[in-house]
Amino acid sequence: MLYIAIGTSMKKISYNVPKEVSRVTETLRSAGFEAYFVGGCVRDILQGIKPKDWDATTNATPEQIQALFEDSFYENDYGTVGIVNETEDETLKVVEVTPYRTEGSYTDKRRPDSVSFHGKLEDDLKRRDFTINAIAYDESKGHLTDVFDGLKDIKDKVLRTVGNPRERFNEDALRVLRAVRLATDLGFTIEIETQNAIIEKASDLAHISRERIRDEFTKMIMTKNPMVGIVMCQKFGLLKYIAPDIERGIGIEQNGDHIYTVWEHNLRALQHSADREWPLHVRLAALFHDVSKPETRRWSNEKNDWTFYGHDVVGGRVSRKTLEHLKYPKKIVDVVSALVRYHLFFSDIEKITLSAVRRIIKNVGPDNVWDLMKVRACDRIGMGRPKEAPYRLRKYESMIDEAMRAPVSVGMLKIDGQKIMEVTRETPGPKLGFILHALLEEVLDDPERNTEEFLVKRTLELAKLPIDELKKLGEEGKEKKEEAEEAELAVIRKKHGVK
Ligand code: ATP
Ligand code: MG
Repeated sequence: MLYIAIGTSMKKISYNVPKEVSRVTETLRSAGFEAYFVGGCVRDILQGIKPKDWDATTNATPEQIQALFEDSFYENDYGTVGIVNETEDETLKVVEVTPYRTEGSYTDKRRPDSVSFHGKLEDDLKRRDFTINAIAYDESKGHLTDVFDGLKDIKDKVLRTVGNPRERFNEDALRVLRAVRLATDLGFTIEIETQNAIIEKASDLAHISRERIRDEFTKMIMTKNPMVGIVMCQKFGLLKYIAPDIERGIGIEQNGDHIYTVWEHNLRALQHSADREWPLHVRLAALFHDVSKPETRRWSNEKNDWTFYGHDVVGGRVSRKTLEHLKYPKKIVDVVSALVRYHLFFSDIEKITLSAVRRIIKNVGPDNVWDLMKVRACDRIGMGRPKEAPYRLRKYESMIDEAMRAPVSVGMLKIDGQKIMEVTRETPGPKLGFILHALLEEVLDDPERNTEEFLVKRTLELAKLPIDELKKLGEEGKEKKEEAEEAELAVIRKKHGVK
């Protein structure tokens, strides 16, 4: 149990470090090394949040760490060793252990020219980015090492660099984005000198690898308040180094249906996706769905209003370009650009037909159609409109289910026209269709009969019947097929509670 002083009171920290995690620091300590938790996990514990990952720091060298943990693996050129522990529920917990490290000067604004691994805990804390990330915690003693008053900043909800912000951002410009990401995630304000330095150093983001930018950007999008994060990025001049096309929506008025500018609408759509806790690709699609309204906006005298023809097509391309530039994996790029490309659909429930729904599914891909519905919800809420009326929504969902199911047809049979011609030596003609439908009727009556063996046997018998009799059986099969179709659709509609 940890007690810490905040002002005049003592605060009891009730979160216990899980034993699979403290095993790592304990092992290091019993081998005579120092070991502390640091970074996000300590910050989380001090706020009463359950940490999602664990970082520790030690005076042991990478080789010494590895010698102590059989199941450890070496990670990167910063000497971090990831130690994998199996927990009781058989999930894995990784503790990343980094040796104390001091850094040489930074001439390229990205990486230290040299890194050395000896030194003291205080030196390691000094090279960390923000005061709230530079607190070390020894859970065995319940003791904090907090040389930069990070605890006070946590209490005041303030994000502040360790030391001079200009110098710290000069060393590694990614920190300007980390500042916004952390402030967004934690709901903290950014201390004023740190803010001024972010604005001053924003353009140095251009020197940072796009993968590192992408990872922080993703983390920001995945917070509870990504809208706040994007607005902050814009105000500090960072957004133009991340997703400049989004910014073009600022001040762009829309047509009569819209009360918000393009910029605000995209942001509100994004925020809705976060409020619903939807996944990254839906959130990105929400953010980008109207990205190309600015360049497609035309005044129509006829409508006496703005039009945005083609913004979906252009937007699909622009979002692809932006996400590729940020090195997102191909899978994410493809799905987001498809969602943006096809976000305009289902305008009028009375007019929409099943074949139109099929076309949408074919275009966007069956795997993405439910996510397209999510983007649609973001679009709507982002316009300031009420949620879709429940009946309409259920009707759309029912139509998607109807369009996605495999139809009742002779295609279900474990025999096809080719095979029938082979066994009967018939040539193509109406007789083949009669046989197929007669077989379908029998299979619909008893699905167990849908085996090639049975169907071949029945085909040979049916082929011997007089043509009139066969025709009658075939027509009965067609009727039965329609009944079966109706019955299946009725089940789907009932499930969705629609007519
Ligand atoms: P999260 O909760 O998202 O993991 P975090 O603060 O733990 O947040 P990480 O990227 O996991 O972020 O980094 C772990 C720690 O390493 C940070 O808390 C910070 O002390 C230090 N750190 C990470 N990136 C930098 C950086 N660019 N410059 C200086 N210190 C950094
Ligand atoms: Mg972390």
